[in-house]
Amino acid sequence: MTKLTFLGTGTSQGVPIIACQCAVCKSADAKDKRFRSSALVEYNGKTILVDAGPDFRSQMLAHDVRHLDAILLTHNHKDHTGGLDDVRSFNYIDRKAAEIYCEEKVLQTLRNDYAYAFAEHKYPGAPEWHVHLIDEHPFRVESLENTGDLEWVHDIGYFYRQADGSLVHSDNAVTEASRDGADIIPIRGIHGQMPVLGFRFGNIAYITDMSKLPESEFSKLEGLEHVTLNTVSYHPHHSHFSLDEALALSDRIGARHTWLTHLSHAFPRHTEFCRQLKELCRERGIHSDVEPAYDGLCITD
Ligand SMILES: [Zn+2]
Ligand SMILES: [Zn+2]
Ligand SMILES: [Zn+2]
Repeated sequence: MTKLTFLGTGTSQGVPIIACQCAVCKSADAKDKRFRSSALVEYNGKTILVDAGPDFRSQMLAHDVRHLDAILLTHNHKDHTGGLDDVRSFNYIDRKAAEIYCEEKVLQTLRNDYAYAFAEHKYPGAPEWHVHLIDEHPFRVESLENTGDLEWVHDIGYFYRQADGSLVHSDNAVTEASRDGADIIPIRGIHGQMPVLGFRFGNIAYITDMSKLPESEFSKLEGLEHVTLNTVSYHPHHSHFSLDEALALSDRIGARHTWLTHLSHAFPRHTEFCRQLKELCRERGIHSDVEPAYDGLCITD
């Protein structure tokens, strides 16, 4: 069974937007309060986070998350990577680096944005990341256990002390992969001009921050129970699906359920938006049950 919890369903500024006085931003309905987009997936015994934006800390606390086996990054925009410094809490508890899966281009941005996390001589308490490079080919998240304890060595950085007493730098830590794992299928998408990744976990696919889905990817989306699609506006947008594009895609993909995410205050309040989507789907004969996702929503297949 796959379980996906929406930790955030908001656009890059979140909802409410700072200082905005519109009816959506002022709504008292909890379903109109949206953290930056992120999802927690429990799949084949692994707990996997997709994206760690600026609301990462609040999201982990809100859902009492105590362990992550992997953090997958869809792309390098700050609303999807801005919370990565806060993996330090998991570093301390797990006594190991956080396992991060991303494309080479995303890693290059992380090296610029978080130079201190990649420095040769890190200061005490800098986040520990173990980066796995992925592309559009399927990959496996395995349980990676470091064979030693994480130790700070003055003025040099973090090291793992091995059973024989020797020290291995955390960037080169020896890890042991367990036999079990979760196989994940990346979905290639285009976000404006930028290649990004979505992910399929069993019969649930999580797609965000795309404005185009290449023909080659549709075969990876057959037979889905649930799919998420991003939309920020009724109007065409340079880097996200418009609502019309998202509805047309939901029909073509044909998952039993389509959940809209990365939502902005351009759409009405949750209850009104649900009603509007029902009507649009009926009018257009769409072969999927399309609803807006909301923070805290859990879906399973
Ligand atoms: Zn985004
Ligand atoms: Zn607003
Ligand atoms: Zn983006």
